[in-house]
Amino acid sequence: MQGAIFTTFSEMIIEKMGMEQWNELLDKTAPISQGVYTKGELYEDSELINMVVALSEKTGISAEQLIQAFGEYLFTSLYESCPADISKITCLREFLLVIDGVIHVEVKRLHPNAYLPKFEYEGGENNELIMYYTSKRKLCHASIGLIYGAAKQFKETIKITQTECMHDGADRCKLVIDFQE
Ligand SMILES: [Zn+2]
Repeated sequence: MQGAIFTTFSEMIIEKMGMEQWNELLDKTAPISQGVYTKGELYEDSELINMVVALSEKTGISAEQLIQAFGEYLFTSLYESCPADISKITCLREFLLVIDGVIHVEVKRLHPNAYLPKFEYEGGENNELIMYYTSKRKLCHASIGLIYGAAKQFKETIKITQTECMHDGADRCKLVIDFQE
């Protein structure tokens, strides 16, 4: 996983819980990187997952909820470093629709080693949009958090329901996004 994901994760923990908690997390999970992350480098996914599990044990908050909260936090930094020109995009739906075919294509061009999830789209009923998420990482809860983060960016209110999930044996996760008036 990209170093930028890890630097943002450490920022979030330090900001929300303090330096002591971050150091405790490093002591407990003993990452090979020793918790020193650089944006341009790649690190093992397991370092992040181990920290989430340790945090979940400590706080009693489920790993899924922690991952979703991190996704929401992460959105701002991903949005700010977005390599594609999205200046003309004015609403959440438009933004979500260009993630797979425009933004991720640019990210891939800049970071050929990055492994990115795949999104497929389907128009739902009325105010809905369906996004199918596929990734070997199965981090659908991070995607849900990221989409909520995007909604905040565009000042829109949404509700996401996951009706099928790779964790329950589905081929892809089905995220139903309900745009609320
Ligand atoms: Zn899922």
